[in-house]
Amino acid sequence: MSRPTMKPYVAAIHAYVPGKSAGADGKPLVKLSANENPLGTSPAALSALASIGKPAGYPDPDSKELRAAIGELHGIDPARIVCGTGSDELLNLAVQAFAGPGDEVLFSRNSFAVYPIATRRCGATPVEVDDRDFRADVDAMLAAVTPNTRVVFVANPNNPTGTYLPREDVAKLHAGLPEDVLFVLDQAYAEYVAPEDEDGGFALAAAHENVLVTRTFSKIYGLAAERVGWATGAPHLIDALNRIRGPFNVTASAQRAAVAALGDQDFVEASRVHNAEVRERFTRRMQMLGNRGVAVVPSEANFVLVQFGGEVTAKAAQDAIAGAGYAVRHLPELDSCLRITVGTRAQMDEIADLLAGLAGGSN
Ligand code: PMP
Repeated sequence: MSRPTMKPYVAAIHAYVPGKSAGADGKPLVKLSANENPLGTSPAALSALASIGKPAGYPDPDSKELRAAIGELHGIDPARIVCGTGSDELLNLAVQAFAGPGDEVLFSRNSFAVYPIATRRCGATPVEVDDRDFRADVDAMLAAVTPNTRVVFVANPNNPTGTYLPREDVAKLHAGLPEDVLFVLDQAYAEYVAPEDEDGGFALAAAHENVLVTRTFSKIYGLAAERVGWATGAPHLIDALNRIRGPFNVTASAQRAAVAALGDQDFVEASRVHNAEVRERFTRRMQMLGNRGVAVVPSEANFVLVQFGGEVTAKAAQDAIAGAGYAVRHLPELDSCLRITVGTRAQMDEIADLLAGLAGGSN
């Protein structure tokens, strides 16, 4: 019997496994496992979605209105913007356009799980560079560049660790790369960073021919269900992605909702402030468990990585948290850790109380 043979580089891919959102008994859990916005979605975006009648046909293939709205908010020429089916699509297209068999794609250990998949599916070779203190190690990344390196990914803030590379480090990494290497700065969580700490990605993308910055509507904008993201970079980069993207890649409802969401910056600011307050409060609670084997990684994102080293294992903590009704993420490559999305204040207080109890004593 004969059948189609999967390409060996496809067979080498481990499919992305999303976090579970049900307990062992099958009961649904409150999802603090996918880094979504606990405040939901901007009311303006929800009413834009509600006002959509029967779909009238294919959407605008070029997301013109959306690109114009993004350009206006961020001061970017819409000709330097491409929209995608989530930023995932754009990350995949970036590799597809610039790397193939024999080429290397560089990223840090403990970074976004899509990078190795996006690399392998094009037959390129993923090169994972050791991180340091859960953060990309700029010197080690530069040392790992070879003549075959074609693309370098950095998530800033990084998922799943929440760590953040300051502007000087991002600039140093970029400056050390050969000009023909594409530097993809994945800013899915950028809106959670205090504006004065922004990493300079847009300025780099505006000034250089080899920088692509990606953003998403899935996180602070609360539109993960609509699958919409965007990227900005030099026109030749945008042209490359436009050649290979799906012709109608962003649905009409996604375009409408995203435009409305951009217009509601009050919601974005409220989400940022909520996140910063609750994240710091939860982080402090975890720091107080430091002498009981619990460590917390300082986060600039909308989630916190907690490491367990004492009596309690991460798996046991995850089970206990599930028992209280919450799903959090336990990643195989970070076996001693849980990644916990910042929820409401009450939810995070409940989880902090529970972990304090588990670790022995209260705080
Ligand atoms: N980049 C990073 C670092 C992420 O964590 C995510 C979402 N998990 C994405 C990109 C992709 O998000 P989306 O496709 O929903 O835009």
